[in-house]
Amino acid sequence: MTTTDCIFCKIIAGDIPCWKVLETETVLAFLDVGPLAEGHVLVIPKEHHATLDGMPEDLAADCARVVVRVSRAVREALGADGWNVLQNNGRVSGQAVDHVHFHVIPRRDGDGLGYRWNAGKLGEEAAERVLATLQKSLG
Ligand code: 5GP
Ligand code: ZN
Repeated sequence: MTTTDCIFCKIIAGDIPCWKVLETETVLAFLDVGPLAEGHVLVIPKEHHATLDGMPEDLAADCARVVVRVSRAVREALGADGWNVLQNNGRVSGQAVDHVHFHVIPRRDGDGLGYRWNAGKLGEEAAERVLATLQKSLG
């Protein structure tokens, strides 16, 4: 996907309207049009990147700063009991829009929101194998 057919790039360009929550030089936060809860906010970099791994780390840090500021507002102003920060990469993860975005989803006691968390148990063989692979990649 290129920036010309990216829906979030169109929002940044002002070609598609949005309910703007906060804007910085590099980051935009706006209300999700399909909220999982009242106050569901999307935080996106203004520069187009499809997934997190392709982003400059400084730009990701800019996004994280806005996520923190939105989190404070969600707690203090909206009075949320908690919130989820969700960031999907790839179809398998549930990513539908190929422009990096962080969901900030306010949670309220008894809201019934949830997802499957089918936790396994970390074994020694898998731990050593995956650790070696990751550490080699990370240098
Ligand atoms: P994903 O599944 O890619 O992590 O999430 C994409 C999110 O973008 C969805 O929650 C969806 O509701 C939201 N979304 C898609 N198109 C638009 C749009 O045009 N405007 C706004 N505000 N949100 C959008
Ligand atoms: Zn884009």
